[in-house]
Amino acid sequence: MKPTNSMLSGLPTTIFSVMSALAAEHGAINLGQGFPDTEGPVDLVEAAAAALRDGRNQYPPLTGVPELRRAVARSNARFYGISVDPNREVVVTCGATEAITASLMALVNRGDEVVVFEPLYDTYLPVLEMLGAVVRTVRLAPPHWDLPRATLAAAFSPRTKAVLLNTPMNPTGKVFTRDELEFIAGLLARHDAYAVCDEVYEHLTFAPVRHQPLMALPGMRERTIRIGSAGKSFSMTGWKVGYVTAPAPLADLVAKAHQLLTFTVAPNLQRAVALGLDKDTAYFERLAEGMRSARDWLAEGLVRAGFDVLPCDGSYFLIADITPLGFRGGDVAFCQQMVRDGGVAAIPVSAFYDPRGQNIPDSYVRFAFCKKTGVIASAIQRLQTVRERLCEGNVAEIRKG
Ligand code: PMP
Ligand code: GLN
Repeated sequence: MKPTNSMLSGLPTTIFSVMSALAAEHGAINLGQGFPDTEGPVDLVEAAAAALRDGRNQYPPLTGVPELRRAVARSNARFYGISVDPNREVVVTCGATEAITASLMALVNRGDEVVVFEPLYDTYLPVLEMLGAVVRTVRLAPPHWDLPRATLAAAFSPRTKAVLLNTPMNPTGKVFTRDELEFIAGLLARHDAYAVCDEVYEHLTFAPVRHQPLMALPGMRERTIRIGSAGKSFSMTGWKVGYVTAPAPLADLVAKAHQLLTFTVAPNLQRAVALGLDKDTAYFERLAEGMRSARDWLAEGLVRAGFDVLPCDGSYFLIADITPLGFRGGDVAFCQQMVRDGGVAAIPVSAFYDPRGQNIPDSYVRFAFCKKTGVIASAIQRLQTVRERLCEGNVAEIRKG
């Protein structure tokens, strides 16, 4: 038989599914894949259920139901002062995942250069490769993941079509500062390039840090595609409702890509998400505040268990350094043993790097804290014996060998 698509044939199953399956197999507490273990707001669930019964179950409009497009526009105005035309500048997608792919499809021709930041979310590289983009990777360094400005400037060229930016950032928990965004904006303007901004954790930042969209910076409105996710803002990751805000000429192309990929999104979920986006500001503050206390609690438990914990200003995730535990064998082996022998699943941070790269850090592990208090408490309890169970035996084995 002739060979099938070479990129997909070589693509491993996503680490998130792999670790969730291992967690289920070993009965481990799953702090790997990032999904809340509570239901989202009851009124949204009820609205989605009611919307199934009132006779609007055929194909909704290509760019999304008007209620949701208008709510996305209002939300941009309320939180960031960005004024948006709901008829021409919003596209509703099947989650942010589709929005990212559709946005890159809208911009990239074969051979165009796209700048990305590493560590990076797992769909970025394969999609860029599929589109024939030339990827320029700029690596951020732990523990603070500050923007390496000279390296970033050097990654831009006359062929740079776009930068793909994720803030708040998965897996680092970094929230790009105003100053960093201004630096990126300067490069985009100088090189006449676009930005695709994956902002799915926009409402999950921890005081005093706040999310700032690149799109709100002077000169960026016409060259930025901004992406949000109802899964994250309303704690229902299975709904897969994403929304793109972009200037009309770009939104038009994102809509064309969406037409090829999925065409539309379940209308009842769209209508429920519209209600969600109109929730009062206190809802969004409570969501972030609950997540902040989960972060603090997990961080404290990880420190007690002997890990070094890196700072985290946003997202669902904390990164811990396993070096002080004395484990030999790297983050992948650590996570495989921890899920089996320690009863807790996490994600090796090396999975967020281009596997073809050099010197990929291998002592960092990502823990999700978007979990119930009792679940975090049980995980912390199990983590207290991880050093003993995984690392002391591991060192003895290495000595023997
Ligand atoms: N981008 C980032 C950075 C993510 O962490 C996720 C994960 N959920 C997504 C995009 C995908 O979002 P969605 O579930 O809305 O497709
Ligand atoms: N975004 C989620 C995470 O980082 C996972 C999404 C997925 O499983 N594809 O954990």
